[in-house]
Amino acid sequence: MSVIENTAVLSKYLDLDQRGKVIAEYVWIDASGNTRSKGKTLNKRPTSVEELPEWNFDGSSTGQAPGYDSDVYLRPVNFYPDPFRKGDNIIVLAECWNNDGTPNKFNHRHECAKLMEAHKDQEVWFGLEQEYTLFDHDDNVYAWPKGGFPAPQGPYYCGVGCGKVNARDLIEAHYRACLYSGINISGINAEVMPSQWEFQVGPCEGIEMGDQLWMARYLLQRVAEEFGVKISLHPKPLQGDWNGAGCHTNVSTKSMRVPGGMKYIDDAIEKLAKRHKEHIALYGTDNDMRLTGRHETASMSTFSSGVANRGASVRIPRSVAKEGYGYFEDRRPASNIDPYLVTGIMVETICGPVEN
Ligand code: ADP
Ligand code: MN
Ligand code: MN
Ligand code: MN
Ligand code: MN
Repeated sequence: MSVIENTAVLSKYLDLDQRGKVIAEYVWIDASGNTRSKGKTLNKRPTSVEELPEWNFDGSSTGQAPGYDSDVYLRPVNFYPDPFRKGDNIIVLAECWNNDGTPNKFNHRHECAKLMEAHKDQEVWFGLEQEYTLFDHDDNVYAWPKGGFPAPQGPYYCGVGCGKVNARDLIEAHYRACLYSGINISGINAEVMPSQWEFQVGPCEGIEMGDQLWMARYLLQRVAEEFGVKISLHPKPLQGDWNGAGCHTNVSTKSMRVPGGMKYIDDAIEKLAKRHKEHIALYGTDNDMRLTGRHETASMSTFSSGVANRGASVRIPRSVAKEGYGYFEDRRPASNIDPYLVTGIMVETICGPVEN
């Protein structure tokens, strides 16, 4: 187990004076959609991201570069207070760049940032609902009966009480860590499948959405590491009558958020219908296992929309339809999306010209 077994001894060292030095943990996204990180000592806490040095790592060890040209460069794009080391220590989010000055193959942030910049006059806000599933060290669903199954779904969603929810301590620790780091986490809830949970981040404008979701995912992995629990972002972690995991993407533009906004929501949905296939292609691997038309999902092959309909591709919340303005929810994205790809194509589609 990777659980910290010697917390009392460790805390003795965590209290030691750092003598003015600051530890910056550089985080990046690897070739399979996981985060990786390594620590660097700085002489002082930066006041802006521009003050942070570029760094690098061995890309041949992460599948991000060949051995004969293995250096991948880390360019800092954002930084956050470190809830683990605390004090002046920080966590740095970095983009990956190749030696020849091109963005690394898995650096989807670079394109996304360009799209956000091109459409920034529309002030696009996002809110992402990150669902995820807990597994134990032996790859069984966390706290499920050994060799068996819990009772069918029903009592677990937003459940309260022993036997209905698992690992609330881990979820609570992550929630606090996000708030400490300045993540705009808007809530948490237990999901329909036992040991599946959700947190929401947003509303965030433009490129901030991808940055904050990746940082919230990183913090989740770090917290879960201490609890000895594995986090899965697979869209269908378990076959059978168990809900899959998504990353519902809530969206609004400036004009959708004011009276009369429903017209702009309808326009956006019309544009989304025309590019269904292109969107699905970026909405997560193995999403076909989840988008079956069952378990509160729409079919993957056709686009649909509706007010308060959780079986549609896109849902307009009831309160939004009633008031006539607000936002819409794209329910198609899977839990394992790269939020830069999803928010990027979203802006491209709904803020761009109508296709024929
Ligand atoms: P659901 O009912 O689908 O479970 P949640 O409460 O889990 O909804 O998530 C709703 C998300 O919508 C939150 O992340 C919230 O920040 C986001 N949101 C609310 N208003 C807007 C808006 N105007 N534009 C974009 N996102 C929004
Ligand atoms: Mn080395
Ligand atoms: Mn939700
Ligand atoms: Mn949910
Ligand atoms: Mn939702």
